[in-house]
Amino acid sequence: MMEHLDELTHWLYAVKGLAEDQFAAAAAHLSDCFDCADSQLHFGRLDAGLRELALVAGIPNVSEDPFEPLDPFVPDPLVPLACPSVAPFAVPLVVPLVEPFVVPW
Ligand SMILES: [Zn+2]
Repeated sequence: MMEHLDELTHWLYAVKGLAEDQFAAAAAHLSDCFDCADSQLHFGRLDAGLRELALVAGIPNVSEDPFEPLDPFVPDPLVPLACPSVAPFAVPLVVPLVEPFVVPW
């Protein structure tokens, strides 16, 4: 049974990151295996899309404000995002020393 290319090999093949002998072995496998050749096309398209996204300043058709006017997850402008009174982990944890309890009688 033929062992298929794993995801890392597909990615490295797409970005030409394989060593020469690994690249030749992967190319030979891709020429013999329809499933891996089909997968490699998808990896290549995904890599091209990611490169295109990385090269543009932003994603087109996405506004600066991601919230709809009635979105319940819109941050409340009256509550500061970094409010110390609501940040429980910002308060130092101090455990007071307790004197040993002595019964006076
Ligand atoms: Zn294969």
